[in-house]
Amino acid sequence: MPTAAPTEMISEDEARTQVLQAVRTSPSRSVALSQALDCFAAQDYFARLPLPAFDNSAMDGYAVVASSCQKGRPVRMIGEQPAGPDRKLRVSDGEAVRIFTGAPLPEGADAIVMQEDVMRHGTAIDVNVDVEAGEFVRRRGCDLAEGQMILARGERIRAATIALLASQGFAEVMVGGTVTAAVISTGDELVKSGQELQPGQIYDSNSVLLSALLLLCSVSARTVEHCRDDRQSLGDAIKRGMKNDVLIISGGVSVGEHDLVKDALLELGAKIEIWRVAIKPGKPFLFGWFESEKVYSAGETPGAPTGMMPVLHNCFIFGLPGNPVSAFVTFLQFVRPAILRMMGAKNLDLPQVPAKLAADLTNDGDRPHYIRGRLERGTFTPTGRQESHALFGLSQANALLRIAAGQSLKADEIVDIQIWD
Ligand code: AMP
Ligand code: MG
Repeated sequence: MPTAAPTEMISEDEARTQVLQAVRTSPSRSVALSQALDCFAAQDYFARLPLPAFDNSAMDGYAVVASSCQKGRPVRMIGEQPAGPDRKLRVSDGEAVRIFTGAPLPEGADAIVMQEDVMRHGTAIDVNVDVEAGEFVRRRGCDLAEGQMILARGERIRAATIALLASQGFAEVMVGGTVTAAVISTGDELVKSGQELQPGQIYDSNSVLLSALLLLCSVSARTVEHCRDDRQSLGDAIKRGMKNDVLIISGGVSVGEHDLVKDALLELGAKIEIWRVAIKPGKPFLFGWFESEKVYSAGETPGAPTGMMPVLHNCFIFGLPGNPVSAFVTFLQFVRPAILRMMGAKNLDLPQVPAKLAADLTNDGDRPHYIRGRLERGTFTPTGRQESHALFGLSQANALLRIAAGQSLKADEIVDIQIWD
């Protein structure tokens, strides 16, 4: 017996809270560093080694005892230390070791003289500058101390993070689990790009939009399909899509006779937790889930016994309005944070920056309004028509400004902008 869908419109905050409470973090896994970009750390990591790991030279030059160097007094060269194995040389007063960037500092030496500041005569050098102890020496641990935290659980792994982990000898890193997703775009009016349009038809832009937005969350949609506005096709497409962790359906979630998604979901036993949210654009947003059992193989689930281990698996359903800007905004405000949480991220928000507003803006409506605009050199300028079908304006935008219901903002005011590009 299908349960009913909620009929009450809820606030944006309530919707986000409910979505984030419902979703679960996927089981963590170990990946090679080369595969870890944009994953989220599944545990804290600490430095195994100080950086630098030993005192070494910051220049190609000569390792000396600073106090024994005087301009015009020759210094005797006693050996050479390239980057690589420590030759265990020892420098005394009046002596120098030819040294190269990254090479271990010989015992007794406390400064490096750059080769540009030296005149060489066979096995002796004249130092042409004053030398101070510590010059051009990179001291052990001056960058990073052993035991210092280098990566916190939930933090996104960036190119520089990968380099830091590699510098510590980590070949693999524990990261949050993967998320599988399916996209269904609904609508009898939709035609795939590349095909001929008949009068009244439009090209399907949401399926590629949603696939691209998923990719920005490091999720590659497993299936992307178009579905007509009839119960049978919709039911069949949903059954295929619900094998994934996330099912995103565009269109057909509003109140018209051709909006069949909600009923099709209920008929298949979905639990619909949210339908209609006070957000503009995006009011018909729907959220729910299918509960089913998924079988993980032992290798897929860390700590699983040998053989197969059944794990309760939910497919989370996001029904996004068909208007492209509504689909875009609701993806960023609800789907993105949910996916990031599933992947083990700590920070679920879009990056926010302060910006100067280019024009007066008022929200006379009763829902918060996400204005699409362009942030350039610290100024936010709304782009194009602020209506939910206005794809061109969206394409010129790189940021969103949220104006609360009833709020008025003045030109030149400093406001917080959400960056998504
Ligand atoms: P719906 O939410 O199904 O009522 O659709 C609302 C509006 O969005 C209508 O003008 C649809 O033609 C349009 N629309 C729905 N799906 C798509 C899509 N995949 N690509 C572009 N426009 C769409
Ligand atoms: Mg439709």
